[in-house]
Amino acid sequence: MKTLTVSVVTPDGPILEDTFEMVSCKSEDGELGILPNHIPLVAPLIISAVRLKRAGETIRVAIGGGFIEVNENKVTILAQSAEKPGDIDVQRARKAKERAERRLKAKQDDIDFRRAEYALKRAINRLDVVEKR
Ligand code: ATP
Repeated sequence: MKTLTVSVVTPDGPILEDTFEMVSCKSEDGELGILPNHIPLVAPLIISAVRLKRAGETIRVAIGGGFIEVNENKVTILAQSAEKPGDIDVQRARKAKERAERRLKAKQDDIDFRRAEYALKRAINRLDVVEKR
């Protein structure tokens, strides 16, 4: 069976490179499912979990947004941040979530509000990935 070679790369370096049978991820337009022999594609990804599937297992990676590029069974995910479940510090994510929630409750300007909203999304996404591991 044909497979996909998947690399997840962040500004801090590579997080994962391995072969999988399917990649599911989220773009602004909705869910994307990539199987072998997919047509070439570049799409922006939102703060979400990337799911990497192969016989009997699904690996979830929390990403803080980025891009997916698909070309000739090679999938590259360029992410602002990316963590596998085992690398997620739950306490840190909980604290980030509380901090963001506090900031969202306080009256602030639009920029701070948007920053807090994204921080909250990143924290919830990390906690979700740990929970579903
Ligand atoms: P924090 O406020 O806790 O720094 P953040 O969402 O602002 O969270 P990011 O800017 O998304 O953090 O990420 C900065 C770096 O810290 C990245 O390398 C990311 O992988 C890492 N990181 C952030 N939160 C966690 C976490 N809970 N567990 C493990 N690594 C994390």
